[in-house]
Amino acid sequence: MAAMPSLKSREIKIVQDIPISKTLPFWEGLKQGKVLATKCKKCGKLYFPPVADCSQCLASDMEWVELSGEATIETFTHVVVRPTTFQHEKPYTVAIGRLKEGVRVLAWLTGFKLSEVKVGMKAKLVAKITPEGNLTYEFTRLE
Ligand SMILES: [Zn+2]
Repeated sequence: MAAMPSLKSREIKIVQDIPISKTLPFWEGLKQGKVLATKCKKCGKLYFPPVADCSQCLASDMEWVELSGEATIETFTHVVVRPTTFQHEKPYTVAIGRLKEGVRVLAWLTGFKLSEVKVGMKAKLVAKITPEGNLTYEFTRLE
């Protein structure tokens, strides 16, 4: 059977449409240099990224809490072959850190030489505004 003639489609970038009404305080927090999580008022479970409803007790009564930022790096990966959307970036390191409060956060790890990055090391989770003006957060050196 002959293959159907086909053309490669253009690459498609997927932009997630995140409803911001319930997460607005999170973005406002980043603007002010704070990384916020949500905590269930009923059972006390902490969520990061923030969620509007507690999956543990199904309550929807959440409060915003500021994270300490104190993290221990649990795992990391150095990304040399970048996805298309990050082609303009230099090779970077992505890490999962466990915060003092118990939540795990996936974020870029910056400010370290690759040889310095070790599982179990301490890092600080900080709010950041990228040169493009996007609000984000990343792990960096303790000051
Ligand atoms: Zn709960």
